[in-house]
Amino acid sequence: MKEEFLKLIEEVKNCTKCRLHQTRKNVVVGEGSTESRVMLVGEAPGYWEDLKGKPFVGEAGKLLDKLLSLAGISRSLVYITNVVKCRPPGNREPKPDEIESCKVYLEKQLNLIQPKIVCTLGNVATNYFLRKYSLPVYPMGKIHGKIFDVDQLKIIPLYHPATALYKPPMKKVLEEDWLKLKNEISSLI
Ligand code: URA
Ligand code: SF4
Repeated sequence: MKEEFLKLIEEVKNCTKCRLHQTRKNVVVGEGSTESRVMLVGEAPGYWEDLKGKPFVGEAGKLLDKLLSLAGISRSLVYITNVVKCRPPGNREPKPDEIESCKVYLEKQLNLIQPKIVCTLGNVATNYFLRKYSLPVYPMGKIHGKIFDVDQLKIIPLYHPATALYKPPMKKVLEEDWLKLKNEISSLI
């Protein structure tokens, strides 16, 4: 891993820029290949992620693993992170000021990795990227699985895998989107 990336990891692990540092057990910086052209960006660490210091290792993570394998993508060949790196108490959504404090780290990750595709998992990550590129923010129901070309990057909004945990029929929608992405993503990894 590049030295700059290792420095970034140390910086994030010691971060106290927002209130979420007070209640976290571990910072979840990200995981996977920093050489990858594909990044997956979720919302924030949950209970298990906070405990283990890794992204998507709880129930939503298990479903994400299934979706990745359905699309023929090895988890170790993509880079997975979240918009905020510390767990919001009780898994509430991260607040706008927390996202604002933390975004410097996501932006550094994007600059170092230079992905060609970013799959945004759920509304928080999707809205972050749509706003960043001044794209109109539509509800997920309208834009999931679509490809937005900006600069040298494709942004692909997807439902958060946790959606299928509380709304089981959504599993099919997620599976269809990931199957559609199969070629788009696998040509880059
Ligand atoms: N949900 C997320 O958005 N990110 C994780 O890492 C785990 C659950
Ligand atoms: Fe720092 Fe981000 Fe954690 Fe807040 S959520 S303490 S900004 S690393």
